[in-house]
Amino acid sequence: MDPRTIQLHDCEFKTYIFEEEIIARIVMLAEQLDKEYAGKQPLFLAVLNGSFMFTADLLKRVTIPCEVSFIRLSSYQDTKSTGRVKEVLGLNEDIQNRHVIVLEDIVDTGHTVHGLLQQLRERHPASVEVATLLLKPDCLQHPLDIKYVAKPIPNDFVVGYGLDYNGLGRNLRDIYKIVP
Ligand code: 5GP
Ligand code: MG
Ligand code: MG
Repeated sequence: MDPRTIQLHDCEFKTYIFEEEIIARIVMLAEQLDKEYAGKQPLFLAVLNGSFMFTADLLKRVTIPCEVSFIRLSSYQDTKSTGRVKEVLGLNEDIQNRHVIVLEDIVDTGHTVHGLLQQLRERHPASVEVATLLLKPDCLQHPLDIKYVAKPIPNDFVVGYGLDYNGLGRNLRDIYKIVP
């Protein structure tokens, strides 16, 4: 595949993970979820905006009966006890006793997912796991057990396939990384 560079705002990005590899990894993830959630009728909770493309491509390949719902996280708010926790918006489902799988675009420090998991667990799901397209293992600041990872990446800023740089780049079919 030919490398390509693009300009978004003031930064240059070059192709990093091509669509073919993304889809191949998503196919494997879907097969794993099909096996591990058979008979459990899981509820996928996709975190907008970044996970929209990952969610669509993954769930097209999950064949067991399942539900999907979309949530957003409000911008950071300070709370005394737990640090910076985002409020969960749009969670109208009763998740008590449900098998929940959170769908994320990328886990970096893990602050976002850590806070989200705390809030979901207060609602007593039967189980809750995280499936993320990308994970930056070197950046994790929480002892999170992210069970489903399509691809671990180094600490580089990436865009495309749902991920944005100041609003741009979400529509790109491949993932690009910033050129320093
Ligand atoms: P956290 O540090 O809480 O794990 O990451 C929170 C959010 O930061 C992610 O959901 C994502 O929106 C953003 N983020 C982290 N790393 C990247 C990256 O490399 N590219 C883009 N576009 N967003 C990122
Ligand atoms: Mg996200
Ligand atoms: Mg963003």
